[in-house]
Amino acid sequence: MASQGLKRAFVRGFSILCVAATLAGPALADTATLKAPALPAGTVTDGAQPENLSAAQAAAFAYYKSGAYERGLSDVAGKATAWIRSEARKTKHPALVLDIDETSLSNWAELSANQFAYFPDAPCRSLPKGPCGWAAWVARAEAKPIAPTLALFRTAKANGVAVFFITGRSEALRAETERNLKAAGYVGYTQLYMKPDLSTFRSAADFKAPVRGRIESAGYTIIANMGDQASDLAGGHSLRSFLLPDPFYFIP
Ligand SMILES: [Mg+2]
Repeated sequence: MASQGLKRAFVRGFSILCVAATLAGPALADTATLKAPALPAGTVTDGAQPENLSAAQAAAFAYYKSGAYERGLSDVAGKATAWIRSEARKTKHPALVLDIDETSLSNWAELSANQFAYFPDAPCRSLPKGPCGWAAWVARAEAKPIAPTLALFRTAKANGVAVFFITGRSEALRAETERNLKAAGYVGYTQLYMKPDLSTFRSAADFKAPVRGRIESAGYTIIANMGDQASDLAGGHSLRSFLLPDPFYFIP
């Protein structure tokens, strides 16, 4: 387990807009769609409110359970795999850059237990129920691989492509992260770049794009960069970018 100090120092990479979910009543996980009953005629209301959070949460669960999420992962990562196969031999010192969370590793056990709420420092003792604190979850190092990404990783390795991980996880979580990557099957990558402890960035792109620049400066050509957030990809330094689906949280 990370120390309390490290836990306090840790933020899930950057500020996350997550669905605040303290739900009463039956779990919404089993509710595909939420439909409110028809309002009485003449009901006075405000038309400017944003989407109801519970409806967004139910839609996210339905998206996962329907298999559409898995199909989306396979589609995008499959295209990245085909691209790697076609480009690797044309390029001197080719490289693949991968994000970790919801790109290489799935935190579904934590996300679903928390119904997409984010608890930085809570314990994680009662899975499959929540709460499951993020740092405690990472310390367990039991996130499963996202299978299409692991296939991409293995294709890259087989084609002589160096693989770099760039993650918003902080350096304080390096040991747990390396252990989880290894357990998930990601063996033989070239380097893992993590956010420096206590550093803050307006956007993940402000950390990640310069790291890709450093990889290029070391002589590599990044032929593909894959993540689950636009901020994983913004800022250039990749021949082609691949965005996996992730309706579960947002990282600026
Ligand atoms: Mg991610």
